[in-house]
Amino acid sequence: MSPKNSSSPDPIEQAFKLGEHWVPGIWRYMLPAALTDITMPQERRATCLDCPRAKFEGWRPDYRCCTYHPRVPNFLLGLALSDAKSEPIVKRLIKDGFLLPEGMVSSPNQWAHYLSDTAEDRFGRSLKVLCPFLEQKSGMCNLYAFRNSVCSTFFCLHDNGDKGERFWSSLQTVAQQVEMALGQWALQQLGFDVKAYMKRLDSLAKKVERASDPETGAWTPAALKVIWGKFYGRELELLRGCADLVRKHRDELWQISNTIDIQEPIKFDRAAVKVVPRKYRSEIDAEYFETGDTSPPRDIWRGFKTLAKNLWALPTGSLVFSPRARILPNPQDDDQGKAFSSCTHMVEFRSRRDAKEFEWREYIPTDKAMGLLWFSRKRKISDELIERLSGMIKQDAKQFISEWTGKKVLISASLSAVTSKSVKNEIKKRVKKNDD
Ligand code: SF4
Ligand code: SF4
Repeated sequence: MSPKNSSSPDPIEQAFKLGEHWVPGIWRYMLPAALTDITMPQERRATCLDCPRAKFEGWRPDYRCCTYHPRVPNFLLGLALSDAKSEPIVKRLIKDGFLLPEGMVSSPNQWAHYLSDTAEDRFGRSLKVLCPFLEQKSGMCNLYAFRNSVCSTFFCLHDNGDKGERFWSSLQTVAQQVEMALGQWALQQLGFDVKAYMKRLDSLAKKVERASDPETGAWTPAALKVIWGKFYGRELELLRGCADLVRKHRDELWQISNTIDIQEPIKFDRAAVKVVPRKYRSEIDAEYFETGDTSPPRDIWRGFKTLAKNLWALPTGSLVFSPRARILPNPQDDDQGKAFSSCTHMVEFRSRRDAKEFEWREYIPTDKAMGLLWFSRKRKISDELIERLSGMIKQDAKQFISEWTGKKVLISASLSAVTSKSVKNEIKKRVKKNDD
């Protein structure tokens, strides 16, 4: 793709739409071009500026899921310096001691704050772990065109259920691996010895408690001097240099990322656990303690392509409505029901058929309710079924099947216990009630 000319904005700095969702401009270059041929799931329920978590679950309406410190690679921060909104924030983060040569990386104390939030169920409600790029008044992200892979692929609800979640998570893993590889490649190109940098970080392992401030979480000036080495005081120069490199080599970024052996400060990372209060250590992912070779992005990409193919593949055999799901009229007796007053029905899904509490609830319009209830009888997947379903619902029938099989509301008839007479009768009764 062609680089910037003087009169038009550089596409590397412009967010673009992948399916229905916006991703950073660098995704045009750092991931295989085939990404744009993949049909992306549409996450209609994660309505961020009218956030359901804030409306119905008590999350902070200003920060919502941005009660988190994203790991943003150096070259994205460097590119963000070209943006009037993000530039002052990046500069402030340098001044306040929140950036490392690799980019914005959580300090041990920031990590401990995050773990205490997850342990105390404060994600979305935190008073301490707040992304510095969030514009509190408007709820907008000031790093939008340069945000990292986690922020670009996170949706708190998935229209395609678990299948959709796996899709985004796999795409995030590919993109994150590329981000880490390119961040280290750029440093090396600028004469910043990455192996020596890891050793310097490891040298702080013995005094890990003194590497960051327990209250603010900022890296301490003494630690920053060691970590930045000869680039201490020249942080902006390094970030700009990294951005210039990715701009210049934009058409080679995917290939480059597959040649980089990502380095990690293993001793320092292990020591950082000491900073986490014991009662919160169970929140640490087992993966955190794993060491060894990481897969090159191209291997993760292969797995992602398979997931993407499976996401839209029609199942074979027959489908039936799950006994764990129920379709009920929307009673409009709480805030959520009232907010979805245009939806005549709701789907309730339980972890077990006879569980008292539902696991999740989704409000749906009449056509979808009828489409789902049509599966109260076993239906064989065929062209004829797609045609009949298309006449019943106001949505692409294949997409409808993918979404509801992803959410396990429609299941393979061969796996189902729904064929038991009692459940069939129960569903029939509901169909009748809804028809009335
Ligand atoms: S992804 Fe975040 S902001 Fe968007 S709806 Fe979910 S919690 Fe709210
Ligand atoms: S970078 Fe943007 S999207 Fe990501 S956590 Fe911060 S404000 Fe939210």
